[in-house]
Amino acid sequence: MLTIDRLTVGYGPVNALHEVTLSAEKGEITAVLGANGAGKTTLLRTVSGLHRARSGTVELAGQPIGCVPAEDMPRLGMAHVPEGRGVITELDVEENLRLGGLGRGGRVSEEDLSLAFDLFPVLADRRAQQAGTLSGGERQMLVIGRALMARPSLLLLDEPSLGLAPRIVAQIFAMLRDLVRDQGLTVLLVEQNARSALSVADRGVVLHLGRVVADEQASVLASDDQLRHAYLGF
Ligand code: ATP
Repeated sequence: MLTIDRLTVGYGPVNALHEVTLSAEKGEITAVLGANGAGKTTLLRTVSGLHRARSGTVELAGQPIGCVPAEDMPRLGMAHVPEGRGVITELDVEENLRLGGLGRGGRVSEEDLSLAFDLFPVLADRRAQQAGTLSGGERQMLVIGRALMARPSLLLLDEPSLGLAPRIVAQIFAMLRDLVRDQGLTVLLVEQNARSALSVADRGVVLHLGRVVADEQASVLASDDQLRHAYLGF
């Protein structure tokens, strides 16, 4: 589904990613793990067209997308949920969800809304509540739900667990599993919370100072003590 080949990305004189190669297979969750500054966010921003690579290629379903502007990505089936849970605080939950259809130029149907409400019943309960009054976990659910309104085939998620209680993280990750199973969605999940991410992912890629140091089945990574201690912090 997504193929990244020898991607080098920099800021000024410094490269944040060095010849990074990885792929995310259709219907799988691929976790990109690593400490602060490993280059995880840079990777997602480059894939979604917000930043240009110095060299290397990115292909989505066999099509090169390295020169596609970010605003065209939803039409190609890509949705990016950046870190930070940005919602329009003055709008209510439903209005925020409806904004998710804009990128693909389509209206959000009741069926689309039901998908988000079935995945996250708490959003249904709070449909008319101002988004600015939601808890951190509810906001995270809302931004994922809003991304799904674009009916993506590839979902890029940046640190969805950041600052959330373990119970909420477990709920969000369980929902991701359901989405992948029921809708055949492909997910590229950037996380510092390696333990939780590997519990839900099919594959894990570890970045360290902008380079891939491991790319394995999630269960293999999770049981590699040396690698866990060296790079994953658990
Ligand atoms: P974190 O988990 O802390 O967000 P990360 O793995 O997502 O870390 P990036 O944010 O991609 O890492 O940063 C990778 C490197 O690129 C870091 O050394 C960072 O300082 C640098 N960097 C990121 N954005 C910029 C920028 N706009 N200008 C200059 N350097 C940047």
